[in-house]
Amino acid sequence: MSFTIQNALIPVDRGYETADVQVADNCISAIAQNHPPLNSPPYQREDRGGGTIIDGKNKLLLPGFVNAHTHSSEMWQRGIIPPLPLELWLAELYDFTPLDPEQVYLSALGTAVETLLSGGTSVVDHLVLIPGQELETIAAAVRAYQEIGIRAFIGPLIQDESLTAGMPAGDGAMEHAAYIRSTKATLELMEAAIKQFHNPEKGVNILLAPTGIQLCSDALFEGCIDLGDRYNLCLHAHLLETSAQKQLAHEKYGCSAVEHLQKIGFLTPRTSLAHCVWLEDSDIAILAETKSTVVHNPLSNLRLGSGIAPILKYRQAGVNVSFGCDGAASNDSQDLLEAIKMGSILHNITDLDYRHWITPRESVEMASLGGAKGLNLADEMGSLTVGKKADFVLYDLTSLSLLPRTDPIGLLILGRPTNAVDSVWVNGKQIVAEGKVKTIDVDDLRRQLFDRSEWSSQRQSPMVGEIEAHYRQVMKLSLGG
Ligand SMILES: [Zn+2]
Repeated sequence: MSFTIQNALIPVDRGYETADVQVADNCISAIAQNHPPLNSPPYQREDRGGGTIIDGKNKLLLPGFVNAHTHSSEMWQRGIIPPLPLELWLAELYDFTPLDPEQVYLSALGTAVETLLSGGTSVVDHLVLIPGQELETIAAAVRAYQEIGIRAFIGPLIQDESLTAGMPAGDGAMEHAAYIRSTKATLELMEAAIKQFHNPEKGVNILLAPTGIQLCSDALFEGCIDLGDRYNLCLHAHLLETSAQKQLAHEKYGCSAVEHLQKIGFLTPRTSLAHCVWLEDSDIAILAETKSTVVHNPLSNLRLGSGIAPILKYRQAGVNVSFGCDGAASNDSQDLLEAIKMGSILHNITDLDYRHWITPRESVEMASLGGAKGLNLADEMGSLTVGKKADFVLYDLTSLSLLPRTDPIGLLILGRPTNAVDSVWVNGKQIVAEGKVKTIDVDDLRRQLFDRSEWSSQRQSPMVGEIEAHYRQVMKLSLGG
């Protein structure tokens, strides 16, 4: 299967050129700029070998972005959880988590649709598992992502400590219930998931994704490192999302979480870490040294009051940074362009030196190549480069939100693009055309999401009631009304 997108606008150096981009065997096979620089011989317009021609006129072609951290099944709870910090928000989330693999399937589809229509071609789903139906949960997400055709990186979310262990003890010792599954059983489950589902050729990749230091033992981390080494898979985890986790790390390890993770070998060029809000300068140096990737989730960090990640410091230290939406219950959408915009301009208030601020072209590079690097795939995707996978997005520059004509990338990143995505290809296959997803029936998805839910504004989370007093105490918040 081969095709050529003709006369699309592509970014070059500091400007733009129109170009013909040819795809063969799922990869970019040629990029011919239609206005070659002076003093160089004109490009030969090759015979396209009968492949399909796609009109790229007045459209901007960019590499696909990576939604580098999300939890798809949170879609069922978006908009309903009240303003709460992570530790209490999580308690409520878990009290109402979906328990039907069919729901997981539908929310994975929903996550994929919103990611595709906001410029994403890959999604990292830190997937919440239904207890007792873990492989069925993964199978449901795999089915959804394969049907729609987005490139999927599924990190089954695992832990081996119960939720209350995720909070600092403060002055008093706390008793925690044992977790529902042993560490050994969890690792066996992960190995089964790898054998059953890891299939990069078919667009499905498994990541080893312990939830984070707050709920995982060293044995679980080490087991994941071992599986990652044996099967050559990437590692993924949350890292220091809240100040409570920073406090917990010092209680648990007597050093910072980053120092500890480095010591046990979890930080590698194949490791991506969501949030990274509460790191010291010495921790940042360790991330740079180990070539770990930071996944920036600005909207979730604002929604849960977690803080502002020191993204400009990471960039100056040479740490790779990508963008994620995080789960739809802490965002409460999966609009990747919105996350990229917020994650880019948020830092203009943290650093007076505007020369460090993120430019729209840098945002695009972080979202595409940065995302690919975090998945150890920078050689295969993340830029418009001959030989790389044909994962890219064509934006309609005649969309009202991208007019009048100024700097297309500037307006795409800093504006509020609506209906701007015209077409999306993943692995050379067209998934979105004329702004519509072609591979699944989106109207049917809408119907199912509607029918399986109800409008509601009041619900009571028993777990929040149980742990709130302790949380307020350790966070030194007033205990009165
Ligand atoms: Zn998360």
